[in-house]
Amino acid sequence: MDAYLASRELAEASHFYLNINFEILNGCKFKCRGCHVEKNAQQPISTDEFNGLSKLLQNFEQSLYRPFIAFVGPTDFLSADNFVSTFESPEIIKLFHHFKRVSLQTTYLDISKAELAAKILKEHYSEIELEINIVVDPARIMDASYLSILEKNKMKFMELLERDEVRTFGIMNVYNYDQTKIPDLLRDYDFMHQRVEHLFETTIDYNFSMGRNKDLSNEEFLDLTFRIRDLFNSSIVSDDKAEYLRFSFGKLTDSLIERQYNYRNGKLYYSPLLYERFVTFKDEFEVPVTQHTAREIEEYEMKVQLEQYEVASSMDECESCTFLGSCVDRGILFLMNTYKTKKCLVAKKALFAVNSMGALPINNHE
Ligand code: SF4
Repeated sequence: MDAYLASRELAEASHFYLNINFEILNGCKFKCRGCHVEKNAQQPISTDEFNGLSKLLQNFEQSLYRPFIAFVGPTDFLSADNFVSTFESPEIIKLFHHFKRVSLQTTYLDISKAELAAKILKEHYSEIELEINIVVDPARIMDASYLSILEKNKMKFMELLERDEVRTFGIMNVYNYDQTKIPDLLRDYDFMHQRVEHLFETTIDYNFSMGRNKDLSNEEFLDLTFRIRDLFNSSIVSDDKAEYLRFSFGKLTDSLIERQYNYRNGKLYYSPLLYERFVTFKDEFEVPVTQHTAREIEEYEMKVQLEQYEVASSMDECESCTFLGSCVDRGILFLMNTYKTKKCLVAKKALFAVNSMGALPINNHE
């Protein structure tokens, strides 16, 4: 696992890592709780956009960046209507071959299209690393038959793929867990993890899908964000899981070497790292791209960083916080500004714990 995460290479970093989340898949027959994806609103990448993206990636490569992960979504790829046409497109094949890894996600609730999907991935993407993440509904973690369907279908798809090095991260949508039948269980990170850990290799990633909802109110954003903050702050996390949690939300200096953007309908968007990468298509998150050069993106990043330092003194706790540099780097103050809060969004107790690697459990660590 050592070389699997970009952050592991910090010690000998000679380049930056660039991830792009391509929101280009349409169609999904499921209605997962907490999902705010517009299931049929993604436009295909036009030839002009393809040329622009290719130019941008080439320029990044010449500027000490290494394209690392192409996330492809936002829908379940095994359910998407355009998975085949997208992944068989010569332009897409070429575009994704700039990256070291392609990352997909699925509920594994329907694998009727799995054979064809596996064939395409084998035929066109065999020399790229694959990550197939699994979307698990937190409300159903006590449902043994649901979990066994996921396990069985995952095994079946892995057999079809005939690749043993495929990785899986567990993804849970964030929503109001008080509306489930097991709200108390869903406040205990370690318990949740134990219920589903056989399905994937790392920790649970929390997906703030609600960011895609342009009408999300500031209050709803805060309620959902604090839910995850409090979950981490009050949970006991083993050393083993802390390593991955550190990657997901506790990257301090590590995030300096990684950049990630969301791409949708011809536009590139800024993507803060709040436990997981935050996806939103609000106008203020759009990265202006006219030249398709790494330099103009870096200038945008610099502007966003300076703006966050400027507002730090107006936030409740940021100015004197030891995590300020990391939070600016991850765009946390940008999010706070957007959703009009001065309150800290970060699970600071957990952040202290996972970054000291071993000073656990979190409950005993102030
Ligand atoms: S958001 Fe929280 S953790 Fe980050 S700098 Fe502000 S007070 Fe510190």
